[in-house]
Amino acid sequence: MQSALTHLECSRCRRLYPHEQLINLCSCGGPLLARYDLRAAARTLAPWLRPNGGEPSRPPRPASMWRYCELLPPGEPVSLGEGFTPLLHTRRLGEGLGLPNLFIKDEGLNPTGSFKARGLSAAVTRAKALGAQTLAIPTAGNAGGALAAYAARAGLRCVVVMPADTPAANVLECRAFGAEVVQLDGLISDCARYVAEQKQHRGWFEVTTLKEPYRIEGKKTMGLELFEQLGRLPDVILYPAGGGVGLIGMWKAFDELEAIGCIGPERPRMVAVQAAGCAPVVEAFEKGGESCEFWEDARTIASGLRVPKPLGDFLMLAAIRSSSGTAVAVPDEAMLEAGRELAAREGIYAAPEGAATVAAARRLREQGWLRAEETVVLFNTGSGYKYAEAWAEALRARPAEPPTARTSNRREP
Ligand SMILES: *Cc1c(COP(=O)(O)O)cnc(C)c1O
Repeated sequence: MQSALTHLECSRCRRLYPHEQLINLCSCGGPLLARYDLRAAARTLAPWLRPNGGEPSRPPRPASMWRYCELLPPGEPVSLGEGFTPLLHTRRLGEGLGLPNLFIKDEGLNPTGSFKARGLSAAVTRAKALGAQTLAIPTAGNAGGALAAYAARAGLRCVVVMPADTPAANVLECRAFGAEVVQLDGLISDCARYVAEQKQHRGWFEVTTLKEPYRIEGKKTMGLELFEQLGRLPDVILYPAGGGVGLIGMWKAFDELEAIGCIGPERPRMVAVQAAGCAPVVEAFEKGGESCEFWEDARTIASGLRVPKPLGDFLMLAAIRSSSGTAVAVPDEAMLEAGRELAAREGIYAAPEGAATVAAARRLREQGWLRAEETVVLFNTGSGYKYAEAWAEALRARPAEPPTARTSNRREP
């Protein structure tokens, strides 16, 4: 079992690059994607991954995303146990929504409390193997915390640039992990500009989303896990999209699963869930656009969704459309309320980004876009423990009702 990585390919102009170098974008400005010898990967990964009724001969692999090492970059993994998160059947929540086959993939259980751990474990593993010394990142919060942790684990220096109003937990964790923290008045797009300007003369390697080829590889493992955990793919995936890397990554994972013979051409319908105060993907989807317009005055309590112009917008929109999916905007109040419901009904203390998918599922079910018999997976991308400010607001708005007050309406007509 080893990485089957062969080269990098531009997602826009298809130009090829060797992978044995620290590299950001293609010379055309397009994001680079990792390509593998999928025939080699199929020989070891496919037989192991295919559902086999729990045969005892299935050799154990690490209980982390590195169990899929054939489809990840080479090098000694810089790991804190990321990935292989639970896929929880949320029966009580699903009953309330009219979706008996509703599942939540709980990414809040990752190291540093968000799924950003997956991408940064992969990126730091590759950057360390290729000799990088200082890693820099613009972030809305969670990616910075994750990079700081993995850089510490790898013994590398780290610079995190984030908006001044980032949740306190993100600032504290970065400091604790020994990162240099820069806070700017502005949005993640301003932080990205700062990193791009400073990196040359400060000798930083930039690990900005999609400007670095391997974060998407880490995030795609969510799609591989769904297949391993369900034994097939779900009918629908609702994903809270900021930069959209998880969505793009899972879409890539499904193509790779097909290429190694685990699935056919079927795909889940992909739903991008955004905040009403920053919904460039929803706007572009509704207008039929192939890329997003910059969203002015982006504002939402779901800091991970405050991305006014995602770099991979065209990839995200293509995946949503070719899967017959859709895009939904959720106001902050609805997110907070859905978060309370998820916590009180299922014991899942979610980030507002994750809670947004619950509100979106309710809307899509009411519209008949989701059908009762469908298997639907929601992604809770982060832990509520990192969002004390949002949760304080959620509980100020309305204290949690005792659960009996709500379950009683099931019996009374
Ligand atoms: C970053 C982040 C998102 C958005 O992720 P993308 O894959 O970049 O769209 C969603 N939720 C949380 C908690 C995040 O930290």
